[in-house]
Amino acid sequence: MRLVLLGPPGSGKGTQAEMIAAKLGIPRVSTGDILRDAVSRNTALGAKARSYMDQGRLVPDEIMIGIIEERLNQPDCANGYILDGFPRTLGQAIALDEMLAKKMAPIDLAMLIDVSDETVVRRLTQRRICPRCHALYNLQTEPPKRDEICDKCGTELVLRSDDQESTVRTRLRVYRSDTLAVIQYYDSRGILKKVDGEGGKDTVFGSIVNELEGVGQK
Ligand code: AMP
Repeated sequence: MRLVLLGPPGSGKGTQAEMIAAKLGIPRVSTGDILRDAVSRNTALGAKARSYMDQGRLVPDEIMIGIIEERLNQPDCANGYILDGFPRTLGQAIALDEMLAKKMAPIDLAMLIDVSDETVVRRLTQRRICPRCHALYNLQTEPPKRDEICDKCGTELVLRSDDQESTVRTRLRVYRSDTLAVIQYYDSRGILKKVDGEGGKDTVFGSIVNELEGVGQK
């Protein structure tokens, strides 16, 4: 299964991608995590990406397409993967299709997780991330056991620099101006499914699993 997970920032893509990855036994490929890792290690890529990310803007397509090509060529992606955060522009979607056409391994399904702007802002400003293992928490709905400390690795949790409210609003604008075209693109190819992302994570996961089972039965 080669799956693209779509939705605005804060729609729960990362959480759902982890849950789907565990269920299907395929890797979650998060371009945001790849970039954050590069920023924290101060690599050349990190240096280029940092200012775009801090402003809530998109890293240029040519950089992102190179990153994804390299990642999808790793052996763990041979039997499928879940893309979380890629493609985010029409150019990226088309480049991805061209890349996959060469391997004769096209995207099977694009799943859109639909949530309102108010939910996005509420969730993201309450979100905390572990800078070490990337585990996600929500201070209201899914707090860590110890105050702002990662349950998994004991590292102090942080607010992502791009989860400040003003940056979240920019990211929502970017989503509308650039990423809606990606949704239309997959819809026009007949491989788009939509689920309601307003509920709790298990409810949303249930809806996604239902849709995935539908695909398996085709
Ligand atoms: P995410 O964790 O997916 O919300 O991504 C965090 C940030 O990384 C985004 O706001 C962008 O600055 C950058 N980013 C991640 N994926 C992409 C992509 N496919 N294209 C451009 N920028 C990206």
